[in-house]
Parts: sequence; C-alpha cells; structure tokens
Amino acid sequence: MKKLIAGNWKMNGSMENARALIANIINQLETDEDVLKKCDILVCPPFLHIPAVRHAIYGFPDLRFGAQDCSAYDNGAHTGDVSASMLRDSSCSYVIVGHSERRQYQQESNEMVAQKAAQVLKNDMTPIICVGETEDEREQGKAQEVVAAQLAGSIPDLESFQEIVVAYEPVWAIGTGKTASVDDVAEMHGFIREQLKELVPDADKVRILYGGSMKPENAGALLSTENVDGGLIGGASLSAEQFLAIARAAV
Ligand code: PEP
Repeated sequence: MKKLIAGNWKMNGSMENARALIANIINQLETDEDVLKKCDILVCPPFLHIPAVRHAIYGFPDLRFGAQDCSAYDNGAHTGDVSASMLRDSSCSYVIVGHSERRQYQQESNEMVAQKAAQVLKNDMTPIICVGETEDEREQGKAQEVVAAQLAGSIPDLESFQEIVVAYEPVWAIGTGKTASVDDVAEMHGFIREQLKELVPDADKVRILYGGSMKPENAGALLSTENVDGGLIGGASLSAEQFLAIARAAV
C-alpha cells in the first residue's frame, strides 16, 4: 500500500506564510520526484489558505490538498461552517474529521464525526477519521476500549468499499514531543486493523496513519512498523524540510 504523508497545518500562519510553505514544498519535490512516486503527499491548510495552495500546486496534480474539518450538514443555516461540497468545489481531495482538538475543544461526538465523514464521502473526497486515547485512558489500560468505541461510532456505514483513512493519534503525543513506542504503535494499529474488519468492507485497503510528534528522527521506525500506512503530521509539517524528510523516511 502506498504510504500517505499528510500535513495538518492547523490554525497557523498568514497567507504569505502559506504561499511560502507550499512553494518550498514544491521546490523540494521538483528535485526529488521519487518521493511523489513512492508516497502520496497531502497538505491540509486552514480553510482561508486553501485557494492559495490550490493555485500554487496547479500543474502539480500528484500533490494533494485538503481541509482540517467540514460541516456535518449539506448547507443552510450553519453560520461560520464550511460544507463538504464547498471543499469539493475548491478541489480538495481529503478532509480530516474528528481530530482530538475538535473532539476536545468543540465537543465533537463520535456521531457528529460520522456525519462529517459521510458528508466527505458523499462529495467524493476521502475522510481522514482521527481516533486516539488520552494519557489517563492509557494509564487505566483503556486505550483499546476507547479507540474501538471511537472507530465504531465515527465511521459511517459503508455498503461497498469507499476510501477512508483512519489516523491513530494518541492525544498525549500530539504536540507534546512524546511519541508512542514502536511496540505500542504496532499493537494499536494491529488492533485497529482487526476492528476495521468488523466495520467496513475491504478493511485491508484502509490506510491507518500514525500521528503524534512525528519527526524526521522517529519517522523511519514508525513508518516501517506493520499496519502503519503513513503519518499525520502537525508541528513538523510547518517546515518543508522536516515534512519532506519524513516523507523520504517513508520511502
Ligand atoms: C496532529 O495534530 O495531528 C499532530 C499529529 O500534531 P503533532 O505532529 O504536532 O504532534
């Protein structure tokens, strides 16, 4: 399975920063085409920076871009929200849903995440559905139980195969510099693969990403772990050098 290296730019930077970052990524990819042949590269800028990124990568169709969230609804009276159809209209191909920061700060439930993922699929894009336990839950030995419930509640019903991506992001590893050990990642990703077999058709085709303080220094070990089909990268994706060093580690 081709690895997916996805950058989540979160709520960072100005329009000028976004233009400079994507230009830097493109420049480096132009001198290292092997990376794009061997893995899928995705960037998820803030909504307002999507048109600038789209413009910059025009003519570079192998570099994908997407969004960090979308509305759970089609359209209408949802002030401040952005619908999946608007994102499709802007040529996005992936949308992150259920990131732990949204679950935590916007009180997003599994049910809402499933509605968002269904909207993404309905609009011919791929949802990246995030799951992951907190530090307390891990210490109490509940990590698998929590992740199983999030998967069951956040993945919409699929009658036939449709591309979805699952990102396992232990909450305690996001933006903290702490990374899950390779053994813990292998165990959880194997567990997620088994759970997916109960939940979706063709579970073996679903890419399972690891996210949580992935850096060039730890990417090689994490990305060569069984059932790790790529990475969701926050902080390190704001540097073209670090982001692409992670992608090189994937190939
Ligand atoms: C994320 O927010 O999805 C993430 C993995 O962040 P970081 O890489 O900064 O831990």
